[in-house]
Amino acid sequence: MRISKFGNKFTQHSGITQLMDDLNDGLRNPDTVMLGGGNPATIPEMQKHFEQIAKTLLDDGRLITSMSNYDGPQGKNEFIDALASLFKTHFGWEISSKNIMLTNGSQSAFFYLFNLFAGEYADGSTKKILLPLAPEYIGYGDAGISPDMFISYKPDISPLTDGQFKYHIDFDAITVDDSIGAICASRPTNPTGNVLTDEEICNLDQLAQAHQIPLIIDNAYGVPFPNIIFEDVKPFWNSNTILCSSLSKLGLPGLRCGIIIAEEKIITALSNLNGIISLSPGSLGPAVGLELVKSGQILSLSETVIKPFYREKAQLSLTLLRKSITDTRFKIHKPEGAMFLWLWFEGLPITTKELYQRLKKKGLLIVPGEYFFFGLEEQWKHSEECIRMNYVQDEETMRKGIAILADEVNKAYLE
Ligand code: PLP
Repeated sequence: MRISKFGNKFTQHSGITQLMDDLNDGLRNPDTVMLGGGNPATIPEMQKHFEQIAKTLLDDGRLITSMSNYDGPQGKNEFIDALASLFKTHFGWEISSKNIMLTNGSQSAFFYLFNLFAGEYADGSTKKILLPLAPEYIGYGDAGISPDMFISYKPDISPLTDGQFKYHIDFDAITVDDSIGAICASRPTNPTGNVLTDEEICNLDQLAQAHQIPLIIDNAYGVPFPNIIFEDVKPFWNSNTILCSSLSKLGLPGLRCGIIIAEEKIITALSNLNGIISLSPGSLGPAVGLELVKSGQILSLSETVIKPFYREKAQLSLTLLRKSITDTRFKIHKPEGAMFLWLWFEGLPITTKELYQRLKKKGLLIVPGEYFFFGLEEQWKHSEECIRMNYVQDEETMRKGIAILADEVNKAYLE
């Protein structure tokens, strides 16, 4: 088959595709302990509410109406209006419906945004997306049409008590010049659970404004929904910010509903992109989302059900890990949000890719850290010493998985 450069880039069976296949196989095999993927937890109380909404939409005909009609390329107007008023009321942001559009999941929003601001420009110059803190979300890595679309920077590492640590942006190392088209960071961060501080966000905003490039903030786990954020930080948006949210981590990833908040010009450009690529975003996510927004449940359930659910799970896993792996070279990134623990096995004699293979043989799936350091200009040993572990499974599964992990790590440290 002869295919284009685009075809070559997007049809490769890359290392990460292999990993995703493994995770998928793991999901199908009931004996595998699956601490690798990014699927949100099935929270019974949330499921009850989703069931009720689905029933209401079916009973009053809106489900069928949504299924039988295309929305416009910007997305369902009623949902966009409701979101605009929610963000305006909740945070006082100066936004209207013209500042919001929907995509089929926020993953496709990143594809649009990265290729809008990076790659080849009309004057022949090329630009990249600057990721101020690696490790960063694996899902960005292959989303550029041009090669080498990202530049990322190692963080400063602050040691904390209890064998924890926290990454900070190393602003002294970051260079923004004409080769940068936009800055992007996830907050909370997948894979580490880090939450960039208010000061870090303000600094990034100033840097972006000074160079007249946008600051993209990935809010997939952030406020006000799904609110899987355990730190007291301020939500951030201004007209130079592109904020990407999603209904996925509320427990609705199958609805594929992403939300972009940005200045009008950008929303118009992205709506046009939506029209060309998908005609319009799917209608079911916005129908369910509208119910959640109208009833106020999107905020109350995020605060009273989702946040405490994940916080308790994080604490339990932290305690189990501490008890099972007592080597002082083992450290955990402070869990500040999202649904992952980021484990650092300093000085581990094997790479975490090798550890991944050994754990897979024992029936445990995690994600080796190396995949999250794309865009770094030099090799960094630290990237081979970390893993990402999802902590959303039930207690018994977590205990089983952590026991397998502890066994293999303790053995590896003796090699
Ligand atoms: N951003 C981050 C940080 C994520 O972890 C994910 C999914 O795991 C996404 C974006 C994409 O989510 P979705 O396309 O389901 O909105």
